[in-house]
Amino acid sequence: MTWKLWPAVLSIFLSPLVQAAPDATLTVYSERKEHLIKPVFDAYTKKTGVKVKYLTDNTATLIQRIKAEGTKSPADILLTVDAGNLWSAAQAGIFEEVKSESLQKNVPAHLRDPGNRWFGLSQRARTIVYNPTKVKPEQIKSFENLADPSFKKRLCLRSAKKVYNQSLVAMLVAEKGEAPVEKVVKGWVQNLAAPVFQDDTAVIDAVAAGQCDVGVVNTYYFGRALEKNPKLSAKLFFPAKEAGGVHVNVSGAGVLKNAPHKAEAVKFLEWLAGPEAQGQFAQLNHEYPVNPAVSPSSFVQSWGKFDAMLINMAKAGELQEKAIKLMDRAGYN
Ligand code: FE
Repeated sequence: MTWKLWPAVLSIFLSPLVQAAPDATLTVYSERKEHLIKPVFDAYTKKTGVKVKYLTDNTATLIQRIKAEGTKSPADILLTVDAGNLWSAAQAGIFEEVKSESLQKNVPAHLRDPGNRWFGLSQRARTIVYNPTKVKPEQIKSFENLADPSFKKRLCLRSAKKVYNQSLVAMLVAEKGEAPVEKVVKGWVQNLAAPVFQDDTAVIDAVAAGQCDVGVVNTYYFGRALEKNPKLSAKLFFPAKEAGGVHVNVSGAGVLKNAPHKAEAVKFLEWLAGPEAQGQFAQLNHEYPVNPAVSPSSFVQSWGKFDAMLINMAKAGELQEKAIKLMDRAGYN
């Protein structure tokens, strides 16, 4: 756990229009790591004079901490990854409902809570990675097709314990229903080329090394691997719209019920979702902006375009328990 505070060193250059109250300091509790948030927080301080203090830890611990601190909590915002986590925070009752026209406009409806308690701030796809020397993209088609016997001993997956896979299966259940998805997950398990991996990077490495031909990963891990090795023997495959489209997820945030600076916190979220910050916020982790007016980096664009599944991300939380039980029944652990 780390605490950091960056003072507004450049406040003398600020225009009076954007200058905040001199004592304004926001506190963000974040599951996102320092290097993915500090540059954007710094940019906000530079622009507005508002200092941004933060503490990083995993979401479950942060939720517990916020609850334990109660009305004395210094935290204004909880920032985390995966809609499953955002949904859990909303269920824990720690988020304040935020009515903001700008957030409604800049964050597409499927990437924010229908109850306005949390908002996606960057978007990642959880999609299929393949080794182009072992499989042709036209043979892949969809998540369901990875259950086909033609992929026997060719598939690599990360552990079902990770919220990313729970959200993926939950969203597939939202789209297709429980019974057909259970059949698909059983098929995946039968097609595994190796025991499940502990992280996405290991899945990409296994695909690139030829240990398996296909895997399922978040796009930014692919970006990191490709940055390290531009000759990586792995490519991303995006299921077509007719095949259900691409499963997306978000990093996102909500304003806390006991936030000492609610109005400032809303302004900060609005800025993060706005055209000025979206490019940088997404680019720091090779992600896609949520704001449709902002383009992804050219590096991210080079992986190709896709049609996203447009079901509301809250389903990832609502159906999480069902998804966990389904994966367990299917022998995916
Ligand atoms: Fe991640």
